[in-house]
Amino acid sequence: MALSLMLMKYIQVYLFKKTDKSILIDIKKNILQVRSRIKEASLKSARNKNKITLLAVSKKKTVEEIEKAYNLGIENFGENYCQEAVMKINNLRNKNIKWHFIGKIQSNKTKDISKYFDWVHTIDRIKVANRLDSFRPKNKKPLNVCIQINQSLESHKAGVSESDALELANQLLDLPNIRLRGLMIIPPKAGNLKIHFSELKSLQDKFNKNGIPIDTLSMGMSSDFEQAIEEGSTIVRIGTSIFGERK
Ligand SMILES: *Cc1c(COP(=O)(O)O)cnc(C)c1O
Repeated sequence: MALSLMLMKYIQVYLFKKTDKSILIDIKKNILQVRSRIKEASLKSARNKNKITLLAVSKKKTVEEIEKAYNLGIENFGENYCQEAVMKINNLRNKNIKWHFIGKIQSNKTKDISKYFDWVHTIDRIKVANRLDSFRPKNKKPLNVCIQINQSLESHKAGVSESDALELANQLLDLPNIRLRGLMIIPPKAGNLKIHFSELKSLQDKFNKNGIPIDTLSMGMSSDFEQAIEEGSTIVRIGTSIFGERK
């Protein structure tokens, strides 16, 4: 008897050690923490926290982890890889989730992206937008999109220059199945982020002055979302601070 108990204890300890670390991440605690940081940052900048959407970035995370976050009130999820995302979206199709594509868009994935997603944050050429427009299922609302801006013109980075953005925006306005909502950036890892975020805000103001009404600034990630909120972000894209490190 005692021996079998000992054996069970041993098996438990062994299994526990073997357990994937990711399930030890407390998603609930993390979400509460992120929400309270969003609240604090919006108070600090006299903004309405309800105008800020928490987009949980679930790339490389499992359906179970997404479900957990969903059951804690998260409704918007961001994915970077089309194939991986389609599998998850199919699995969770009975849930009221809004899916955001935030990765690099390959032309041959535009059909699936347009079919499965509600938002695309990373538009940077008209060719891709045309394809998303033509593939959008007729029974769905127009696809919400943001133009990705490359502020520092780092050549390895996706995004259009600020000076080309207005022209691209005008072309998007002609597409019936696309709804231009705003602008998105991934700022450089180092340097003065405030400048990058406020520059995107200025570009939004410029769009609105030029008769292109946009209501969305997709900026701010785990390491910098408070600053982004203080500069006017309306969607923060948060992965690590909710789900833990990615493999
Ligand atoms: C992965 C990713 C995020 C989330 O990054 P974290 O630092 O984990 O919060 C946000 N935006 C984009 C475009 C991403 O690719």
